[in-house]
Amino acid sequence: MYFYRTPAWLQLVFPGILWKVKTSAKEIYLTFDDGPVPEATPWVLAELAKYNAKATFFMVGDNIAKHPEVFTAVVNQGHTVGNHTYNHLPGRQVGTKSYIENVAAGEKALGPSAQKLFRPPYGRLRWGQYQHLKKQYKIVMWDVLSGDFDEKLTAEECRQRSIANTTGGSIIVFHDSRKTIARLKFVLPEFLAHFATLGYSFKSL
Ligand SMILES: [Zn+2]
Repeated sequence: MYFYRTPAWLQLVFPGILWKVKTSAKEIYLTFDDGPVPEATPWVLAELAKYNAKATFFMVGDNIAKHPEVFTAVVNQGHTVGNHTYNHLPGRQVGTKSYIENVAAGEKALGPSAQKLFRPPYGRLRWGQYQHLKKQYKIVMWDVLSGDFDEKLTAEECRQRSIANTTGGSIIVFHDSRKTIARLKFVLPEFLAHFATLGYSFKSL
């Protein structure tokens, strides 16, 4: 179970977390989680370049180590890179000490390009992890989940939900991963074209 739009009460429980950018401008904040991988990330970069769109990539450290050339391509094209742990750890199943160490390893893999942004895998953190990490990072969640990872959704449903729920300042989650690339290849070009036509621009955090 997850929410397409994050309910307001949840945003009040964690006021230190960024859910949406406060702006009256026609700006959308695209985020891509779980890369970099050669099967998905270069394709995403090429799509973004068509619209001069900038995005934020929450990367898994282990993927950076395996695919450094893909990581470098993301950075060189002017996108923002953030931390998504080293091994995509589920916060609730891991002790705080191990979790913090894994985040630190992820930060090391990002190197000097890192912007001190953190997104917890699965959007889940224990209270102690949250308390620790919010001192070091801006914790970035979202107000729109594309649902690109949800195998119960068709690509068309994913496209419709993504477009219907996005407004100015929205932070939307996509995944540049092997599991989602087929759906992403349908949804992302339509999403970009739709909002570009309406005069929106796409910014990194
Ligand atoms: Zn993830």
